[in-house]
Amino acid sequence: MKILATVEDIKAYSKEMKEAGKVIGLVPTMGALHEGHLTLMRTAKKAADVVIASVFVNPTQFGPNEDFDAYPRQFEADCEKLRSVGVDAVFHPAPQDMYPEGYCTYVNVEGEFTKKLCGGQRPGHFRGVATVVTKLINLARADKAFFGQKDAQQVTVIRRFVDDLNIPVEINMVPIVREDNGLARSSRNAYLSEEEKKAALILSASLAKAHKAYDEGERDVETIKKIVVDSLNTEPMSVIDYVELYSFPALEEIKTVEKASLLAIAVRIGKTRLIDNLILGE
Ligand code: AMP
Repeated sequence: MKILATVEDIKAYSKEMKEAGKVIGLVPTMGALHEGHLTLMRTAKKAADVVIASVFVNPTQFGPNEDFDAYPRQFEADCEKLRSVGVDAVFHPAPQDMYPEGYCTYVNVEGEFTKKLCGGQRPGHFRGVATVVTKLINLARADKAFFGQKDAQQVTVIRRFVDDLNIPVEINMVPIVREDNGLARSSRNAYLSEEEKKAALILSASLAKAHKAYDEGERDVETIKKIVVDSLNTEPMSVIDYVELYSFPALEEIKTVEKASLLAIAVRIGKTRLIDNLILGE
């Protein structure tokens, strides 16, 4: 596996691959890789000739009081995992290489949907995501890029700017990968103590209750949200940031679930903010 440590390295690599006629797949990550990330890599391997993963804790998508400094960084271990699934190259730039002195260009998606869910609670987050993903797609000269449903709103944002800016890349969404006990895999799970890990099971358990109600015929948005809120509130360690149900991928307000809809939750367990979601009505 090639290690691409600089912007110049990835430019040279992707130029060579393009000239060889390869279909390039890109999987952006912030590292601390787990089975969720590796599933994205495997999906990309099947769909592209060459897979470039990026491992970059992107400073522009973190708010001033968020966990940028504390975010887990374990590049050597990440490389081992990437090699094990046959990734061809990993891009691991320094922040000053991506955002050098004088950098002043950002991609700002302005739709109402960016103000909901995590966009509402993390001002500037999607501006940072859209900016770095644009740069990564350009640098990798990606034909296809792969993102997790775990960050479903992020997929909506990325699809929007790729469409609006006529970027010739195919965006693929991969389902959420969970631990056997239901907990959605996340690099931030590493912050949880054993006790908090047990408490965190309430997220997937609450979504499962909503899914069951939906399967039994419940379609009313407020009722489904209440099932989730009531369930989350049975866990004393959980503090709800949001429980929302919108159409998907547009993220518009709905009263009943008639077509694909996103039931999305953000919950704090101790100091750790966790997200999870479920797509109903597909
Ligand atoms: P991150 O490193 O957290 O920025 O995530 C990189 C990519 O992996 C994003 O597209 C995430 O949505 C995706 N991802 C993270 N966790 C999971 C998971 N449990 N299942 C599927 N995809 C995931």
